[in-house]
Amino acid sequence: MTTTYAVLSEGLEKSYGQVHALRGLDLAVPEGTVCGLLGPNGAGKTTAVRILTTLTTPTGGRALVAGHDVTREPAVVRRAIGVTGQYASVDGDLTGRENLRLFARLAGLRGPAGRSRADGLLERFGLGEAADRVASTWSGGMKRRLDLAAGLITRPRVLFLDEPTTGLDPAAREQIWTAVRDLAAEGTTVLLTTQYLEEADRLADDIVVVDRGRAVTTGTPAVLKARIGSYAEVAVTAREALTGAAVVLDQLTGGRPVLDEERLTVGVTVLDTALTLPRIIRELDRAGVPVTDAALRPPTLDAVFLRLTGTPTVPAEKEHAA
Ligand code: ATP
Repeated sequence: MTTTYAVLSEGLEKSYGQVHALRGLDLAVPEGTVCGLLGPNGAGKTTAVRILTTLTTPTGGRALVAGHDVTREPAVVRRAIGVTGQYASVDGDLTGRENLRLFARLAGLRGPAGRSRADGLLERFGLGEAADRVASTWSGGMKRRLDLAAGLITRPRVLFLDEPTTGLDPAAREQIWTAVRDLAAEGTTVLLTTQYLEEADRLADDIVVVDRGRAVTTGTPAVLKARIGSYAEVAVTAREALTGAAVVLDQLTGGRPVLDEERLTVGVTVLDTALTLPRIIRELDRAGVPVTDAALRPPTLDAVFLRLTGTPTVPAEKEHAA
């Protein structure tokens, strides 16, 4: 079976004078999947989305969206896509229903067809009850859902979501995630940019980590995490026991155990997914190492991200406070 790609880019470049926002970005997003573009501030994510949605042109390379070249056939590409930005494009003076009907008219859906599409989307996103109140009275999460609904008026084959939940509280974020998962289940291809690891972990079939204008790694969340490995940490009763624990952990993992003489702990990376915590404890016991605590922590995408980009991710709470 051949794979059809909804988004395909080869060596995509974009320079603004001396600033190289993209330096040869390759992307291949199979139809019907969710791809998470993950990267620190300034990595080039928004620039990539702007090129793929025909808002700006690349200075090098090429990109196909829904099978059409973004530079040569921008109008065809535009008809196949939906875009939802970081900032809600909702008009606060209009009601939710009026907003969506306006978007429908702008998309060429007039009369009953436009009205029923707008009403259907309001119901679908749980906005039916609030639909006849002016949008300025709505919560941030509701406005973002309305924005998402607006991006779906034309039943796009490919949906671009640029940081769709930045600044939203956890409940509103969860609602957007559910909506995106439902869309993906119906076969819409979604390309999502995010700074939130959890978001990529929860939504994306594949993650592309972008750093300094290039894709530095690609894989499913599970594959990326497996590359980093779990982390085993054991606590011992006394300083004298640290070396014994380190020897056992070294033998079990072949890693380089790190000793903490203050906390009386030894930690090591575990790449072997078959190594279990009971086995670690058994081996320490067999070697006569007096252990007070032991843990095997699964890898996080944060660790993957930090390893690849050298940049810690932004915790959601800090983002809210900013
Ligand atoms: P963020 O997560 O902060 O939105 P990003 O990964 O989306 O970051 P971009 O917005 O694509 O990154 O920016 C990539 C680089 O290109 C940055 O160095 C940015 O300053 C630069 N850049 C983006 N747009 C322009 C522009 N119009 N003129 C000049 N430089 C730009």
